[in-house]
Amino acid sequence: MTPQEAAPYRRQLSKMRAALAAQMDTPDSAEDDAAYVERSDDSSAQLAAEREFESSFDEREGAELAMIDAALARIEAGTYGECADCRQDIAAPRLQASPESPRCIACQQKAERRGAA
Ligand SMILES: [Zn+2]
Repeated sequence: MTPQEAAPYRRQLSKMRAALAAQMDTPDSAEDDAAYVERSDDSSAQLAAEREFESSFDEREGAELAMIDAALARIEAGTYGECADCRQDIAAPRLQASPESPRCIACQQKAERRGAA
């Protein structure tokens, strides 16, 4: 997919990312990927204690944010729209509905069956 073709998805992903970041109350993460990654890797006791107060909602949102970041990285790399498993183009309606999808529907269903979704 060319950068021009990916542009609408990039806009949609950016919007989703900003909305998620706002929900997670981590305003910096919307613009600072490095800070977000550092924070995720921080396994200090203080962070663990903080996390206990965070709901599972935040964890789910965090996983979604990571998928959005990965999709934006694929746009940068020029591989956006290809299935991560079979390398076929992901159907446009699927990307429009879920622009963060890393796999085509068939591979996603396979991944979910083996519990790696
Ligand atoms: Zn596939």
